[in-house]
Amino acid sequence: MTGQRVRTRFAPSPTGYLHVGGLRTALYNYLFAKKMHGDFIIRIEDTDQSRKVDDAQKNLIKTLEWSGIIADESPEHGGEFGPYVQSERLDTYARYCRQLLEDNHAYYCFATSEELEENRQLQLKQGLQPKYNRKWLPEELGGSVPSSEIRKRLDAGDPYVVRMKVPDYVSVWFEDIIRGPVEFDSATIDDQVLMKSDGFPTYHFASVVDDHLMGITHIIRGEEWLPSMPKHLLLYEFFGWEAPKVAHLPLLLNPDRSKLSKRQGDVAVEDYIRKGYSNDAIVNFVAMLGWNEGEGSEQEVYSMDELIEKFSLERVGKAGAVFNVDKLNWLEKQYIKNRPAEKIIALIKPILQSELEQRPSLMPRDLITSDEYLAKVIELMRERVGFEHEFISFSPYFFFEPESYDEESVKKRWISETNDLLQEFCGTLESLPEFTAEGIEAALKDFVAPKALKPAVMIHPLRILASGVGFGPSLYHMLEVLGQEVVLRRIRKGIEKVKYQA
Ligand code: GLU
Repeated sequence: MTGQRVRTRFAPSPTGYLHVGGLRTALYNYLFAKKMHGDFIIRIEDTDQSRKVDDAQKNLIKTLEWSGIIADESPEHGGEFGPYVQSERLDTYARYCRQLLEDNHAYYCFATSEELEENRQLQLKQGLQPKYNRKWLPEELGGSVPSSEIRKRLDAGDPYVVRMKVPDYVSVWFEDIIRGPVEFDSATIDDQVLMKSDGFPTYHFASVVDDHLMGITHIIRGEEWLPSMPKHLLLYEFFGWEAPKVAHLPLLLNPDRSKLSKRQGDVAVEDYIRKGYSNDAIVNFVAMLGWNEGEGSEQEVYSMDELIEKFSLERVGKAGAVFNVDKLNWLEKQYIKNRPAEKIIALIKPILQSELEQRPSLMPRDLITSDEYLAKVIELMRERVGFEHEFISFSPYFFFEPESYDEESVKKRWISETNDLLQEFCGTLESLPEFTAEGIEAALKDFVAPKALKPAVMIHPLRILASGVGFGPSLYHMLEVLGQEVVLRRIRKGIEKVKYQA
């Protein structure tokens, strides 16, 4: 396989949302393919028609693209190995199934589901691992069913499945890139159904046929698929095909080390998007679930390009990876701190505009939606928000008049003279030649010094009247951004509403 172009695939079943574990699988396949200058493919595995969900395919691909994972070949974008949806490849599977039947690697089975269940119960009672009892194994494969009986059933149109014939007394061995050597005894492998009675292949059969026909060189997928490997390898052997290299990724765990589940938090990527996490942070976070750059590296924030450069399957661990939302939140903050203002503006402007549709503002709309104004708000707030939408929801006072004043803060910060002092200070603010943070600060200090008061006596009430709340960014800078007219209006209106309570 040396010298061959690397081709990886993400092969989701369209049964609903994209799970964070699925995103990790897709990402690792993508990173590995891109690092090796190869191709990344999306294939939709919809052979279980009963579990198919409308729109799931479109949403999966949309979510991947949102994450920056763009496939070289996919149902949406095509490619020379298509179709990339398994339900559109039924003829291909039927052809390869016929070949296995002809070569005596597979056989028809007419067992009913009641029979199979009865057999299962019996084996469980005997303390055995349930397996098909090979009742329909034909004579030529070492069983007892004459070919005439099989012919008769087929001619009568009886429903059947096709099963693979697992050879007896062999052991199946392979080297997993992450786990090292793995071995299975064929006695533990079931005669897997390859073709179902509805004419659809099973996952096992379709995925082996497709991985081969699509030229996949490396299979990277979740640990839950490890037990399927021996069946797949036997199929490769039956066909005389070279099997791709495989890497099974560690489980994702809740912080209490149980298997990641919906009960302990969100598992759908869409939920995180809805909450406002950015693709940068989610991709970075998911990349670290099982992979690290290695000793000596303290780096935690990686762009997609850096991940492509640094990723390697050899550095994916075997141990389960804990899904820690605090880490994701921390990453999101790092990204917000460093993201160019233009990018944030592009995201928050539509949010602001839709809020302005619903809620009137006394501030000129052109001004508060201008890039210049928003950039100033962003610089003041970027250390304080956890999500981009919080640039608006955390500090609505940059866009709307305060509707109320935080009572606790008022109680704590008002003294009997506060309103008189504020009234007097309005005059000072009004006569300031330049309404800048430095100018306001100097004026405030000059205002309190002769009165033997501390600046805090003014700072807190000013903040409360200008913003409605008792915390926020640097007061002087906040007042500068709001501008003289707005600040004076808010203080004057506030004095009428807020009264000192002894
Ligand atoms: N369709 C399988 C899934 O839903 C793909 C498993 C594999 O990657 O082989 O996860």
